[in-house]
Amino acid sequence: MFERILIANRGEIALRIIRAAKELGCETVCVFSQADRHGPWLEQADHTVCIGPGPSSESYLRADRIISAAETMHADAIHPGYGFLAENAEFAEVCRDCNIEFIGPSPEAMALLGDKISCKRMAREAGTPVFPGSEEAIEEPTEAMEVAREIGFPVIVKAAAGGGGRGMRIARNDAELADGLAAARQEAAAAFGNGAVYVEKFLEHARHVEVQCLGDKHGHAVHLYNRDCTSQRRHQKLIEEGPAPGVDAKIRDGVCESASSLIRNAKYSGAATVEFLMDRQQHFYMLEVNTRVQVEHPVTEAITGVDIVKESIRVASGEPLSIHQEDVQLNGHAIECRINAEDPDRDFMPQPGLVEVFQPAGGFGVRVDTHVRPGYRIPPNYDSMIGKLIVHGCDRAEAIAKMKRAIDEFRIGPIKTTLPLHRRLLGSTPFVEHDFDIHWVEQLLEKQPDAVV
Ligand code: ADP
Repeated sequence: MFERILIANRGEIALRIIRAAKELGCETVCVFSQADRHGPWLEQADHTVCIGPGPSSESYLRADRIISAAETMHADAIHPGYGFLAENAEFAEVCRDCNIEFIGPSPEAMALLGDKISCKRMAREAGTPVFPGSEEAIEEPTEAMEVAREIGFPVIVKAAAGGGGRGMRIARNDAELADGLAAARQEAAAAFGNGAVYVEKFLEHARHVEVQCLGDKHGHAVHLYNRDCTSQRRHQKLIEEGPAPGVDAKIRDGVCESASSLIRNAKYSGAATVEFLMDRQQHFYMLEVNTRVQVEHPVTEAITGVDIVKESIRVASGEPLSIHQEDVQLNGHAIECRINAEDPDRDFMPQPGLVEVFQPAGGFGVRVDTHVRPGYRIPPNYDSMIGKLIVHGCDRAEAIAKMKRAIDEFRIGPIKTTLPLHRRLLGSTPFVEHDFDIHWVEQLLEKQPDAVV
């Protein structure tokens, strides 16, 4: 096991990793930016190192500063968390060159699964269901039109190196496709330095269902079943739950097994999520693979009892996975609500500033992952998520009731958060009946924009 782990992240996920490292007997070094110098999570780390000013481009994204902090502090591993450098294969490679273990996949596995074209090719080989569409990058409009004729409009042009919803264009006819191809290529080249794009079928009404996987360096991989993340706004997940409701157990198991095969074939170690869209007939189509721990991992921890963060540290140190597929048993239902410091009544305007009141919910089956406490000042520089409220019940109905109760108990002020919106979403018929698609939250907000509270 590692002696000292450097955490190249901030906020709730830094705290989550510090806790896991401590339980494994590892010392922790947490890097921080000047804007985070009063970050409460830093108190829990054994050592802290300032790596630059507030903007992440000058701190949390500075691989050179993070590596020198690790070398100066004699850390033998780096945990990247999510966001920032977590899916940067070059950073993983620099870690390896410096003899520091990157807690996550090898740069090769990350690059293979991070590129959407090579990932899709591997998925086909592993039997993971993918969208019909082009098998290679597309250069000419005529090629794109040929693919579209085969699979039928609407189609979507996507960037191989895509992320954050950039480099995507929907096309409903040949003219839109020609325009979309040029625009997507340009946007992808500018944003990712890689203009490769491909074309696939566009699904109008779908749910987002994803499979949590874990792999080790000994060729083992398991899945920890699935999560539904259909409640989103602008492609940002708001509510996640597991197992995904209303999915036939046989179909679910088939898709989950195909996801772990993909991870195994990629010689992947650590936590990975294979994301899918699911249509009304329960056909699955892979979107992408996230090669890191995800925000919503606690949902899966609740329903499987597996500590995903500890397990990913263990496998990075060379230990085999401590679980076999047959050990993974589903237990009850879990829901997570992301608490964002945003005002849902004012177009989700970010709410940086002083948190005077912070009184988390508690009780049986309630987990709060947050770095916030009363007196904490939310810096304006970073993502607005300030915590996660997770509940675990014996079934979905109990989990929903528990989440409503927990939200009613939670007090945060004077800043506004997404909690009142969550309370409303949980009581809405589409959510209760899980009769929804990835646009349902936006449609609800359009219909009743002022009815959040
Ligand atoms: P990114 O890496 O930019 O997040 P994704 O491949 O995950 O890109 O796609 C982002 C979002 O775009 C998805 O969550 C989904 O809402 C939508 N999307 C992507 N591909 C399709 C598709 N083939 N059909 C319908 N929606 C899609």
